[in-house]
Amino acid sequence: MSNIVWHQKLDKEYRLDKTRSRGFVIWFTGLSASGKSTIASFIEKKLIDSGRMAYLLDGDNVRHGLCSDLEFSEEDRAENIRRLAEVAALFEDCGVIVLVSAITPLEDMRKLIRSKVEHLIMVYVKASLDTCIKRDPKGLYEKALKGEIKGYTGIDSPFEEPQDYDLILDTDKYDIMACADKLLEYIQGVM
Ligand code: ADP
Repeated sequence: MSNIVWHQKLDKEYRLDKTRSRGFVIWFTGLSASGKSTIASFIEKKLIDSGRMAYLLDGDNVRHGLCSDLEFSEEDRAENIRRLAEVAALFEDCGVIVLVSAITPLEDMRKLIRSKVEHLIMVYVKASLDTCIKRDPKGLYEKALKGEIKGYTGIDSPFEEPQDYDLILDTDKYDIMACADKLLEYIQGVM
């Protein structure tokens, strides 16, 4: 018992050597209803079923806990993304494949994520605003269009077209399975 040093921060390579589990982050950006969570949860299950440590952080769900003090102002949205990026980076460091599904509407937010995460796959889940309004799985576009919700992304709050993404999944053109297959093929190359 005498020479054990408990406070040592474990080196990433040491961790990888022992656990054989390399962490990275797959971040899904796109309009609400573009298909981020649908694709991310499908991929999470695929990874778990193949024995990988994977975990989905859903932008909507973290607002009940980690980010429950935040509203939808510009500052709070940025803080929401910053916290998600910090948590994702910690999970990555542990060797987990982190999937983050969050609208992430601004280029500055996406730049911040790149600066925090070491191995990042930024996935732009693309669908036209018309398609998203037609899908409207939670009825939120309808409310935003009636003015019952203010500052809804794509309606009266901006969504900047991503410029620096690693993969684009066009859910207007391709169905869920085709999008998932494209992403799975991409991540095979980095695992
Ligand atoms: P987001 O997480 O981007 O807000 P969701 O995944 O919650 O979006 O909802 C997207 C909706 O669009 C779901 O009802 C899903 O079934 C539907 N959908 C239709 N085509 C696709 C596709 N190719 N990829 C993902 N979702 C799709």
